Amino acid sequence: MLKGKTALVTGSTSGIGLGIALALAREGVNIVLNGFGDAEGPKTEVAALGVKVGYHGADMSKAAEITELMAYAQREFGGVDILVNNAGIQHVAPVQDFPTERWDAIIAINLSSAFHTTRLALPGMLEKGWGRIINLASVHGLVASAQKSAYVAAKHGLVGFTKSVALETATSPVTVNAICPGWVLTPLVQKQVDARAAADGVDNDEAKRRLLAEKQPSLQFTTPEQLGALAVFLCSEAAANVRGQAWSLDGGWTAQ
Ligand code: NAD
Repeated sequence: MLKGKTALVTGSTSGIGLGIALALAREGVNIVLNGFGDAEGPKTEVAALGVKVGYHGADMSKAAEITELMAYAQREFGGVDILVNNAGIQHVAPVQDFPTERWDAIIAINLSSAFHTTRLALPGMLEKGWGRIINLASVHGLVASAQKSAYVAAKHGLVGFTKSVALETATSPVTVNAICPGWVLTPLVQKQVDARAAADGVDNDEAKRRLLAEKQPSLQFTTPEQLGALAVFLCSEAAANVRGQAWSLDGGWTAQ
């Protein structure tokens, strides 16, 4: 059913975004990758699944570059059927010490970029009569942790944005939902593991165990593969009436 559609996955050169891009590509979806760092490795991995793959290096904190990214998807792929707003960054500090430029960057990349991609992709989806928008929020879109004020504000904002756009499109064939992962062992989280290891004077494995024990009852990391499978489900016909949800995949974190 998804074969031949096009997905734009922002921040897909690494971690969860790449996991979702690969899962969609396995369903025959053409992929527009985006993100910093090495793009050739991810492009080769996706292309090996037999779909068309493109890449645009737009900085998702910049509205003008997002406009260029969407124009690229229109020009090279005929538009975006599945939009996965995944690009995100983290910074951990008490609010009184929080660098203002980090606050601005987190709000721009983790929240405002989804507004820009959505406003630009939605008209094409409505015109074609099918679309899926999936916003990578977080458990931090539902509950808070200390020292993550910008991230928690952005992710709560993203969940609110998801609900609002889902209501605006409720009678259309476009669905809008958020996914809320708990800890996933990606470069974004490895930085926090490293900080924990340094602060507690423990090794990498013990730091991972302590991070999980604090918040995630399953004591297991959620994986990019599990998140990819959830994204595929949200794109399926079975999920056509799932609208405005913040779907947790968090090992029990928010059940506490
Ligand atoms: P990651 O650091 O592995 O990947 C982030 C991706 O975003 C990379 O491709 C990076 O190049 C890209 N990126 C960063 N800044 C960008 C910018 N300005 N413009 C374009 N691309 C940019 O992180 P991840 O853990 O895979 O996170 C992906 C998403 O999932 C984020 O929104 C994050 O908040 C969310 N999330 C992660 C976890 C977790 O535990 N890892 C949990 C919940 C939610």
